[in-house]
Amino acid sequence: MNYFRMPVFPIHRVYNFSAGPAVLPEPVLEQAQQDLLALPGIGMSVLEISHRSVVFDKILEQAETDLRTLADVSENYHVLFLQGGASLQFAMVPMNLLSQGGVADYTVTGSWAKKAAIEAARFGQVNICATTEDEAFTRIPTPGELRLTPGADYIHLTSNNTIVGTQWPATPTVGSAPLVVDASSDLLCRPLDLSRCGLVYAGAQKNMGPAGLTLVIVHKDLVERSQETVPLTLRYGVAVEHGSRYNTPPVFSIYVCGLVLKWLREIGGLAEMGARNQRKATLLYDAIDRTEFYRGTAQTESRSVMNVTFRLPTEGLEHRFVDQATEAGLSGLKGHRSVGGLRASIYNAFPEDGVMALVEFMAEFERTQG
Ligand code: PMP
Repeated sequence: MNYFRMPVFPIHRVYNFSAGPAVLPEPVLEQAQQDLLALPGIGMSVLEISHRSVVFDKILEQAETDLRTLADVSENYHVLFLQGGASLQFAMVPMNLLSQGGVADYTVTGSWAKKAAIEAARFGQVNICATTEDEAFTRIPTPGELRLTPGADYIHLTSNNTIVGTQWPATPTVGSAPLVVDASSDLLCRPLDLSRCGLVYAGAQKNMGPAGLTLVIVHKDLVERSQETVPLTLRYGVAVEHGSRYNTPPVFSIYVCGLVLKWLREIGGLAEMGARNQRKATLLYDAIDRTEFYRGTAQTESRSVMNVTFRLPTEGLEHRFVDQATEAGLSGLKGHRSVGGLRASIYNAFPEDGVMALVEFMAEFERTQG
């Protein structure tokens, strides 16, 4: 078995600005590493245990309890640990919530929001109730711009637009229709106000754990709306009935997500997380605004706390910036291929030291190349 034994290198971790899968808290990685051969007292790795075992029952229960405590999720909501990524929710939401003859309102504030709307239109009538596409999605619509359908089945919004680096500054008031929120890139980045939401979903791979897990928080009133033709694996009601285990769930991703939730509780919960995230974002936006050399791409009032997007005077300089930053241990700063430029994703687990390192690098790069 020596074939599998890796030589032990000194561990060197770079600052990882990737938009997802993204950096995880180091104590979480260390714990996962420790538990990988055998969970304490169990004698088996978490990768090897049955999803129906008492051990996994406890892992799942604890993750749900921690999430409920952290995000203040009341008993009126179910917490589901699903698969298929946020993209599957683009389909599951309309499959379960869009009635025959009903209308769903979609706000289109970026490419993911647009994909969600296009997917929903396969299942029923979609009204684009607001979009800033003709402004290259550089801002979030104001509440006054929303053209809502009276009696809509639900209203969908993407709380943080990962590619363009915008974020809804506040949850809009939308009347009685339930709000459905794709919070893939900002769930748990600050305290969550669920009171106006019917359903919130997020892929775990940015703020909560490894890829393969999708978290859904759904109001009890919404889980039994799906029509008979919806496959069992894609019904919220079935997932609820089987405690997220209608079929085999992503046990490892759930276990690591559980560790991340524990870490969040230990550092002081979402209020503390929100304060740290705000400090990191302010530091970086201040560095961008201090000079003409860097230019933020999102309009100020719509700026994201999680994904900071900016440009340099030329594409040539942007390439050089990315190359030199990578050499300096600042990885993953290239903007999304559809928009170019630079993007620093600074999710929950991204350390403040890393933002300071980037700010120093930016000043030095401007001094030498500007
Ligand atoms: N929504 C948003 C806001 C995203 O950022 C992403 C992925 N980056 C998705 C949806 C799609 O997520 P997944 O790859 O988990 O399907």
